[in-house]
Amino acid sequence: MHAPHSQKPFDKTAAQDLDRGPDHIAPDCAGQNFYAIDRGLRDLLQLYLAPDDFRRLEPHFDRLGVLAGGRLDELARAADKHPPVLNPRDRFGRDEDWIDYHSSYREMEKIAFGDFQFHAMSHRAGTLGMDRPLPAVAKYALQYLFVQAEFGLMCPISVTDTSIHLVRKFASTELKDYLLPKMLSDDTATLWKGTQFMTERAGGSDVGAIETTARCEDGVWRLYGDKWFCSHVDADVALLLARPEGAPAGTKGLALFALPRRLKDGRRNAYRIVRLKDKLGTRSMASGEILLEGAVAYLVGDADRGLKQMMEQVNLSRLSHGVRASAMMRRCVNEAFVCARTRVAFGRTIIGFPLLRRQLLKIAVPTEQSLSMFLFTANAMDRANAGSRNSAPAATTFRWRPAPWKSAAATATSRNGCMRGWSAMPISACSGKAPATSTRSILSGARSARAAPTGPLRPR
Ligand SMILES: Cc1cc2nc3c(=O)[nH]c(=O)nc-3n(C[C@H](O)[C@H](O)[C@H](O)COP(=O)(O)OP(=O)(O)OC[C@H]3O[C@@H](n4cnc5c(N)ncnc54)[C@H](O)[C@@H]3O)c2cc1C
Repeated sequence: MHAPHSQKPFDKTAAQDLDRGPDHIAPDCAGQNFYAIDRGLRDLLQLYLAPDDFRRLEPHFDRLGVLAGGRLDELARAADKHPPVLNPRDRFGRDEDWIDYHSSYREMEKIAFGDFQFHAMSHRAGTLGMDRPLPAVAKYALQYLFVQAEFGLMCPISVTDTSIHLVRKFASTELKDYLLPKMLSDDTATLWKGTQFMTERAGGSDVGAIETTARCEDGVWRLYGDKWFCSHVDADVALLLARPEGAPAGTKGLALFALPRRLKDGRRNAYRIVRLKDKLGTRSMASGEILLEGAVAYLVGDADRGLKQMMEQVNLSRLSHGVRASAMMRRCVNEAFVCARTRVAFGRTIIGFPLLRRQLLKIAVPTEQSLSMFLFTANAMDRANAGSRNSAPAATTFRWRPAPWKSAAATATSRNGCMRGWSAMPISACSGKAPATSTRSILSGARSARAAPTGPLRPR
């Protein structure tokens, strides 16, 4: 990483100097501590977290705030410019597919899975110095800080976390014993990361149209089919839906399976990554298509409850996506404010113009709302896990206009005036990375708050 830091100091006394060259261009908020500058987040965390938890976790919020405004931000820029590359075969022609990632992505993985252990933090004690799993409020607050720098990697982080949830909740004891020690590991060299494969060419929203079949051959389940949109495609274990032979059509006939990338003897399982998606956003992370050619898989839970079980993972993903949308809105707001306070037009910094301040408020208010909404929802989850009966329905009473992040990104981009559309600037990068999700995701997550505990598994 040899790129110069994007930070640049701003000298107010020189603001009127017309010969300032590149100094006419406003700085961005790289280099700032994204936790320290987020008053709403700091206040709400003190409200929702128990005082002891807040005291123990605050140094980690602060540390991640510094990373998100600094090293992570630099790494994310590099990873976006150097997307993953698929190697379908080794040099001898064997179908040993693998994906090359840029060193910046690998370094971000170490921060996420090694240092912060996002994947395990709400499933076991021992992460971030805690003697028990983290509350959902803390987990999603950390995701929010992380995503202000890097969006793409949050997909593997989140699907590993939610895959662990499914395995813990629905898998047999034998399967849990096989998978969980690997999936909850704090050693990034041996950790098994998870993912979720549902979408096929026939079945996207219409999941019941899934065509992948599962055959029980000599007591072993083998999968045959074609999965069309698989994010974190080279994960070590994928939770996926397939139809056992003879099962009814539609969603009722779908079963949930765990598909390991490698078999117990170390050989590659019988599926291939045939192509990577050339995506508009989340470019640092590999999404692809896979061909299942009799791959060994393990049945998870009841064969006739596959989709119902899988929906727990989907709903947790929705909440995480809402958090990510909120994080990008925050980044846009922060960028817009830095620019507004430093960019000079007509001889004054542009924050002096009332119409511009009005625009800033139009993005700042929904951003604060989205923060408040996801923390409220996460807190409802924590309370539901602790046995409260009325926490989730309260969260569903909110209604919001869709896709406020788009409005935040568009407004923030226009605040950057001459930088508009230039992908070197963080806001353009945010627009590109942003998912087609919004506070609608938070609402969906809220609806499922009771059904989807993230804390220690409750006896059911
Ligand atoms: C970046 C990215 C990553 C992804 N990662 C994964 C992954 O990891 N695993 C995975 O399984 N999938 C993944 N997907 C696939 C994604 O979940 C599907 O795109 C999604 O389920 C929609 O399916 P579809 O694209 O086939 O759209 P369709 O189902 O064909 O829908 C097309 C349009 O019709 C609308 N529509 C469909 N049905 C209805 C209805 N009943 N009422 C009203 N409107 C309707 C939809 O809202 C949409 O606008 C990913 C997609 C993207 C873009």
